Amino acid sequence: MDERQLIRNAIRTVPDWPAPGVQFRDITPLLANPKMFRVLIDQFVHRYFDARPDVVAGIDARGFIIGSVLAYELNLGFVPIRKKGKLPFSTVEESYELEYGSATVEIHTDAVKPGDAVLLIDDLIATGGTMLAGKRLLEKLGARVIEGAAIVELPELGGAPLLRAAGLELFTLVSFEGH
Ligand code: AMP
Repeated sequence: MDERQLIRNAIRTVPDWPAPGVQFRDITPLLANPKMFRVLIDQFVHRYFDARPDVVAGIDARGFIIGSVLAYELNLGFVPIRKKGKLPFSTVEESYELEYGSATVEIHTDAVKPGDAVLLIDDLIATGGTMLAGKRLLEKLGARVIEGAAIVELPELGGAPLLRAAGLELFTLVSFEGH
C-alpha cells in the first residue's frame, strides 16, 4: 500500500461532530502512531526539501503540530497564526466568514519579513476560508506564500478551487468525500 493510502487509513472519521451532518476527520490516530507520524511528516519533508521556504507558518491548532515538526526537520523557523486574542505582541488580523458567523486570525507583526517565502500549513482544507485568511495575513506583512499544504482536502466544500483562484498553489495528501 502506498504512503498516502496508509495515511488515509489512519485518519478516523467521527460522524455528526461537532454538529449534526459534519464528518469530522480526526488526525489524532495518525499522530499517535509513531511509524505513521514519521510517514506523514516525511511526505512534507520530501516535498519542501529542495523548494526551501524561508519559514513555515502553521494555522491554529493542528497546523502547529505538523508545521513545527516540519520546520524543525527542514532547519527552518516556525511561526504561528492564531485565533484572535492569543498572541501577546503587536499583531495584524484578518476576519473571514464561517457557515454561521465569522472568525478572526492573527499573526505577530514581526513573524515574517517582507519578501520571505512562506510555506503555510494546516491539517485540513474544507471551504478554504481559514487558509485564505492565513495567506492574506502573511501578505499584509509583505511575505509571499509559496504553497498551502494540508494533510486532508474535502473537495465537496470547494476550498481548493477558491484558493487556487486566489493564487495559492496547494499540496494535499488525501481527500475525503462528504463534509
Ligand atoms: P475551512 O476554513 O472551511 O477550510 O476549515 C478548515 C479548518 O477547520 C481547519 O483548521 C480544520 O482543522 C477545521 N475543519 C473544518 N472541517 C473539518 C472536518 N470535517 N474535519 C476536521 N477538521 C475540520
